[in-house]
Amino acid sequence: MRYAEVSVNSPVAQRRTFSYAIPSGLDVEVGHAVWVPFGEKVLQGIVLELSPYPAVEETREIIGLIEPHPILSPARVKLAHWISEYYLSPLFDAVALFLPPGFERKVLTFFSTTPNPDTDALSSLSPVQKEVFELLRKQGNTSSKELEKKLGKKKAQTTVSQLVRRGLALRKYELEPIKIKPKKVPYLSLNVAASQAPEIAAELRKQRAIKQATLLEFLSQQPKPVPWAEVRQKTGVDKPAADVLARKGLISWQEIEVKREPISYQDITPSSPLKLTAAQESAFKTIKDALHEGKGRSKVFLLHGVTGSGKTEIYLQALAEVVKLGKRGIALVPEIALTPQTIERFASRFPHRVAVLHSQLSPGEQFDEWRRIKDSEFDVVIGPRSALFAPQPDLGLIVIDEEQEWTYKQEDKSPRYHAHAVALKLAELTGAVVILGSATPDVATYYHAQKGDYQLLQLPERVVPVEKSPLPQVEVVDMREELKAGNRSIFSRSLTQAITRAVNNGEQVILFLNRRGGATFIQCRRCGFVLRCRRCDVALTHHFAEDILVCHQCNYKMAVPQTCPRCSSRQIKFLGTGTQKLEQEASFALPQARMLRWDSDVTKRRESHEEILSKFRTHQADILIGTQMVAKGLDLPGVTLVGVVSADTSLNLPDFRAGERTFQLLSQVAGRAGRGPLGGQVIFQTFSPEHYAIRAAAKHDYASFYEKEIDYRRQLHNPPFTQLALLTYSHTSDALCQKEVARMRDRLTAERDARGIADLDLIGPAPAFIHRLRGRFRWQLILRGSQLSAFLSLITFPQGWTIDIDPVSLL
Ligand code: ADP
Ligand code: ZN
Ligand code: ZN
Repeated sequence: MRYAEVSVNSPVAQRRTFSYAIPSGLDVEVGHAVWVPFGEKVLQGIVLELSPYPAVEETREIIGLIEPHPILSPARVKLAHWISEYYLSPLFDAVALFLPPGFERKVLTFFSTTPNPDTDALSSLSPVQKEVFELLRKQGNTSSKELEKKLGKKKAQTTVSQLVRRGLALRKYELEPIKIKPKKVPYLSLNVAASQAPEIAAELRKQRAIKQATLLEFLSQQPKPVPWAEVRQKTGVDKPAADVLARKGLISWQEIEVKREPISYQDITPSSPLKLTAAQESAFKTIKDALHEGKGRSKVFLLHGVTGSGKTEIYLQALAEVVKLGKRGIALVPEIALTPQTIERFASRFPHRVAVLHSQLSPGEQFDEWRRIKDSEFDVVIGPRSALFAPQPDLGLIVIDEEQEWTYKQEDKSPRYHAHAVALKLAELTGAVVILGSATPDVATYYHAQKGDYQLLQLPERVVPVEKSPLPQVEVVDMREELKAGNRSIFSRSLTQAITRAVNNGEQVILFLNRRGGATFIQCRRCGFVLRCRRCDVALTHHFAEDILVCHQCNYKMAVPQTCPRCSSRQIKFLGTGTQKLEQEASFALPQARMLRWDSDVTKRRESHEEILSKFRTHQADILIGTQMVAKGLDLPGVTLVGVVSADTSLNLPDFRAGERTFQLLSQVAGRAGRGPLGGQVIFQTFSPEHYAIRAAAKHDYASFYEKEIDYRRQLHNPPFTQLALLTYSHTSDALCQKEVARMRDRLTAERDARGIADLDLIGPAPAFIHRLRGRFRWQLILRGSQLSAFLSLITFPQGWTIDIDPVSLL
């Protein structure tokens, strides 16, 4: 007999597997999805190991295969083990990353009669048993649900079990089918004769219903119904206007079914590789050599180049090279960058050979794509962090674009993995090459590249000659000077002037404010001094209720001072202006300008990102006010001015990565201006103009930022020189919460001392940055050291704890 170690889909399984016997005749391999008995239930499991001996004395048998072919390759089985061990997540959570979408569906039970029933057994049946047997014989495959409906729950269950035991009926399990709804899209069509439309439109214009008129005119020129998305994009008209017109009976809405194909190749023309510039050529050649070397040894590149330096072109050519070698690739992009433009660029280079995995695909589409990927239909899989777990065979290359993005870390649920680390491990297991691309690499990534763990490839310049598309000039405005000059507005004189000029010239402006939750720090408005923790060097957070300042890393507390500790000024204030307030002040200062606000408050309730963007693109507003969303991935040629209202907000978050975060945000924001022929200007407003992150971002100078930052990291023993783990406990009682975290701290300290581990710091307990979330209080501990997963695996954590290894944010 052979045995299988199975990861079972049950919360009690945690990080362990269970031993099952393999019944003779069942061909089970590593990676197979199987049905297994578990207590009273039948559960799904994945076979992770085969062995001639069971790990325990008594084993039950595997019931059957869920799918005829293994779902996970051996390399991916190893990767799942690694994820569970490194991130301390339940094993099945790690395994589940690799399963086809919708795999964790309900289990359905079916019954049928045995092909050649034993006549003796048949003749000994009771009348009830006979009735059920005949029913099954007549109907064939019958679900337990249906039987229960016909016979009553109790009777159905006992009787079929008896039939199964006597060998007269067979029990089978199936996954509930995926509910695939046909995909329907709203279309608009004209309800009146096209010849009548201009007249009606003219009348509407007289009534000042301009949008309605525009819409009517547009539709009168279309031979067929037009998808609403297209109407909106081409006319800039919003939904309410269309609804009014429909209510008047002039146009009508229709729901039309469309084909489920994530990429529409209709408008995509195949593209050929571009002739590389000298810098691109040299980087590409190095990558190409590594791909050809192919000793099954993985290699990691950091491709560092400003936006527009031609990184994407290198990804495309490297992927083509991999395909030539008979292999395939995966390209990760941040979700926000997964726009039609990006997809089109990949799709036009590899027509019909690109799979897109997108959270916006329906479950049916996701499942179809997964199947087709597994069947080797695609050269390239593109998607957000989860695309890393696609069953792409013959993996030769993994690309991670914008590698510094925090969305590559799964923070909200287990496993709390970082796609970066997982990609490196997957590459190591498959021999694939990794390209990490960025204009502003993560400080840790750059450090590894400097040390030689990764190979650094640089693209110093934009492909389009610098004179034609220079990086925009950045002006840094010292807000302390504004105050001295008597200007108390949130807009400096410089920014007010620049906005006025731009709006009067018919150009567009983006105002950026990175406001987060209750992010309130204390700053002297005269000298710019920010109160920081003496031990952790992070900004202290103001707690309204108790009116004290607290360090959110170590729980150091102090009273709110009356005067500035540095310059003794009394102008020491809480800072934290939200986007709403900003909108108000802006309309006050510039009554003639049309404003549009873009933040999560707006997108949650009223309009989609797309709607807001298309409004701005079609110039229905002069000023776009937004949070970090505006910083990413947008190409808005009409924008000539970007104003950062407070460059300090993210700088003073209580997190050691605040400087890095600020540099990256400001660099991205600054890159938004000057995309069009009109050129661009950027203004940063700050109370800390001398801060290295702000100065470096203003000069587009990554190197000088990095040197300073890495120095601080070294001095303060922060990553990449150490490793961090964030342990959070939540409970409805604040006191209990605090007590449990203190207990855990003592437990961990004792374990550390018992093992004589020298390089392990415990920081906290401290309240979490968001101390109370959905009615639960949260306290946290930070561990700083090395090999933290191994250390923490020795400890049992009760319910209520979450463990985040290598957290991207301590907030
Ligand atoms: P990045 O990914 O670094 O932002 P891209 O690869 O998108 O840079 O290149 C920026 C622009 O330059 C794109 O429009 C691209 O088509 C173009 N481009 C890239 N490489 C070349 C090249 N070798 N010759 C001509 N144009 C190029
Ligand atoms: Zn001061
Ligand atoms: Zn502290």
